[in-house]
Amino acid sequence: MAELDLILLGPPGAGKGTQGSQLTADFGLPHVATGDMLRAAREAGTELGRIASRYMEAGELVPDDVIIAMILERLADDDAADGFLLDGFPRTTQQADALAAQLAEHGRRLTAALLIDVPDEVVIRRLSGRRIDPATGRIYHLDFDPPPRGVDPAALVQRDDDREDTVRRRLAVYHEQTEPLIAYYDERALLARFDGTLSPEEVHGHIRSTLVTLALEEDA
Ligand code: AMP
Repeated sequence: MAELDLILLGPPGAGKGTQGSQLTADFGLPHVATGDMLRAAREAGTELGRIASRYMEAGELVPDDVIIAMILERLADDDAADGFLLDGFPRTTQQADALAAQLAEHGRRLTAALLIDVPDEVVIRRLSGRRIDPATGRIYHLDFDPPPRGVDPAALVQRDDDREDTVRRRLAVYHEQTEPLIAYYDERALLARFDGTLSPEEVHGHIRSTLVTLALEEDA
């Protein structure tokens, strides 16, 4: 099958993580999620984790040079040689330029930027109700996906950056620094838009059929 070099764009809470996991299973691509990589670095107590954690807690972006170095190293791994799905990167024009330059250096180019569009009020409702079961890692939502009987809601924890004031800051950062990438990829005829207010299954179906078409076009 054709090589698919993809990025997922959209505000926090758009469902990029959920869609990313499913799509990478469908198409056999590595799911490279910068937020997950930074949280793992923070838990492991590495230098990178220490640098990143104060930005993450404040809902601010980790500096471009730090994140670009991390992602270019990850994309040099063997499993990304035939395609990848980036989730949470790029988030600034400088990051997008660095990605394009790295791909061009290896005779590659981005296949598409998949935008999952969700209005701010939906993001705030989704993220401020999100809770994690520390025992299993399972994610629930107080209103939309409450924990079953047997799981004590009081034992669930909220991600630091899912608190409402931080969510609002993350959204402001998204509008200021990441939203310009919509025009960036549209101008390069790489943008595909999806309505992220639909159910996860519907969003998945729409993205999946777009990717099947893109893969066929790449093969042609
Ligand atoms: P996420 O899980 O994608 O919402 O990312 C959580 C946090 O990690 C963000 O709020 C940022 O602080 C940081 N982060 C993740 N990806 C990037 C990126 N590409 N550039 C800068 N900071 C990032």
